[in-house]
Amino acid sequence: MYVLDSSAFINEYHTDERIATIPLVQEELEGEAAYRFDALEGSGMHLHIPEENTVERIERAARETGDLEELSETDIRLVAAAFELDSPLVTDDYAMQNVAEKLDVRVEVIAREGITEQREWRFQCAGCGREFDENRDRCPVCGSSLSRKNPA
Ligand SMILES: [Zn+2]
Repeated sequence: MYVLDSSAFINEYHTDERIATIPLVQEELEGEAAYRFDALEGSGMHLHIPEENTVERIERAARETGDLEELSETDIRLVAAAFELDSPLVTDDYAMQNVAEKLDVRVEVIAREGITEQREWRFQCAGCGREFDENRDRCPVCGSSLSRKNPA
């Protein structure tokens, strides 16, 4: 079972595992993401309501890591749900990742194509066609301008 945060619904996170979330997440979703939530709920997604003492435990851990200010009530309850279900938490939020790590809750990052592509971008010279890993004002070989090239 995987516990999904709001951004997992927004970014169409896909897994073959059973999924769970908390009811508060539904309130943060609109449009397509809200529709996706309803469809997943209809096909057996588990809605978990964490115990108050677990929520307090997460808050204590977040205070210790210095992340409490960054976390919404939804964030804290999501970490609490993952903790109670002993399931990985799917999130890209650094503060949530920090607190999860402190509590030995596994975190799965939402793989977004955009991020991978950005790392692989190369820059090509308009004059001689040489490629470079990083952007520069001018090609160091022929002095022409460089432009960003999408990976093939
Ligand atoms: Zn050049």
